[in-house]
Amino acid sequence: MACIWFEACPLRDWERNGKITDRWRSEYCLSKENWANCKRYQLEEKGIPHENILPDGGRIE
Ligand code: SF4
Repeated sequence: MACIWFEACPLRDWERNGKITDRWRSEYCLSKENWANCKRYQLEEKGIPHENILPDGGRIE
């Protein structure tokens, strides 16, 4: 099962715009085991802003 936010997640636009590679998609968004470990997902669950955060907690410039 993919992350429930897969389609709505800003990472899809970042991929289309070439800001990021498909790495995050395969390692987190479409990973059966790992999407719940995504920092964006966890912050969303807590209602904490996460605008520029990558799945590992790093920031996109
Ligand atoms: S980046 Fe995180 S919140 Fe966004 S779709 Fe991937 S796993 Fe879900």
